[in-house]
Amino acid sequence: MGVPISQAWTVASYVLKQKLKGRRRYPLVLMLEPLFRCNLACAGCGKIQYPAHILKAELTPEECFKAVEECGAPMVSIPGGEPLLHPKMPEIVAGLVARKKYVYMCTNALLLKEKLHLFKPSKYLSFSVHVDGQKEHHDFSVCREGGHDMAMEGIHAAVAAGFRVTTNTTLFDGADPNSVRAHFDELMAAGVESMMVSPGYTYEKAPDQNHFLGKAKSRKLFRMILSNRNKSWQFNTHPLFSEFLMGKQDFECTPWGMPTFSIFGWQKPCYLLQDGYADTFKELMETTKWENYGAKSGNPQCANCMVHSGHEASAVDYNFGSLKGFWETAKKYMFPSLYPDPEAQKLLNDWKPANSHPLVQIQSAASEKRSLETSVAGD
Ligand code: SF4
Repeated sequence: MGVPISQAWTVASYVLKQKLKGRRRYPLVLMLEPLFRCNLACAGCGKIQYPAHILKAELTPEECFKAVEECGAPMVSIPGGEPLLHPKMPEIVAGLVARKKYVYMCTNALLLKEKLHLFKPSKYLSFSVHVDGQKEHHDFSVCREGGHDMAMEGIHAAVAAGFRVTTNTTLFDGADPNSVRAHFDELMAAGVESMMVSPGYTYEKAPDQNHFLGKAKSRKLFRMILSNRNKSWQFNTHPLFSEFLMGKQDFECTPWGMPTFSIFGWQKPCYLLQDGYADTFKELMETTKWENYGAKSGNPQCANCMVHSGHEASAVDYNFGSLKGFWETAKKYMFPSLYPDPEAQKLLNDWKPANSHPLVQIQSAASEKRSLETSVAGD
């Protein structure tokens, strides 16, 4: 199992309570975005495109605690932006841990080693380090030469200091499945507790043949990566979500499962789309037109989406929604499979890389200096 028993128990009992109360829509993980500022400028990220006054803004600890209490989800993921640039992040994390929330602080780990002493190891706190692949691939993905080495250094330091360390890997079209598998080996050897992998989201897609091919391509890629697993691999995602990625399950999106709160308020409907904001969590749940989202809705923005933040909660909900779902999941945990699949192995063996891309350095020295100055100004 990729999470501690106490966390699995907390989540299971929370979901069962929601079911007993008859709540059809309930949050599982709060996506808390206390700032959009970052010390990287990844080519695939939309957040750092905000104007300077937005990038300087941040949630106060009190605003974070209020959102967490309003929402009530047992887990809190802190993406961003880079959370370690928030001067009050240690106070925010300590407040969430005191509230017994399981916190995943997502970080590119560039500052992890130097800021580690500001945090205390706890079963409630995990540093979720963003590493998109082996050295060359990660550096390309985050547009920063040396980014991978710094992330791995942060991972080693946090593991050595006794913290829970997990990783998150986002894959885009053209990812090398053999390299991704080797990347998983490297992460487990570095001592991480477990890993999360999800396809990236492409915003400008339309509901045409390309969308179908996009999903089919994702499933093929994840089938190659997640079949015939190495025994050492541990994932912290629900096993049925992994199967969804591999094309063995079909789930509709449950965007309310991982609601997002940021400096703008409660984001409608999900972490990826911005169709307006609500002032309160209650308003978000009651006024969002949920029927307009998910692949079956026909919304072109959802047609190609298989991301974790929209679909893992669907797997969890299915798990607890019926005896069939419960038994199916229980078997996955009691008798974990390495998913032997000779055809996937053949696809993997035959896979050839597309034309290689040159490393792009989007972040100039000047922009890096500016982002660090903004950080210092906030300290
Ligand atoms: S399918 Fe994807 S983009 Fe659409 S609501 Fe769900 S998570 Fe958001």
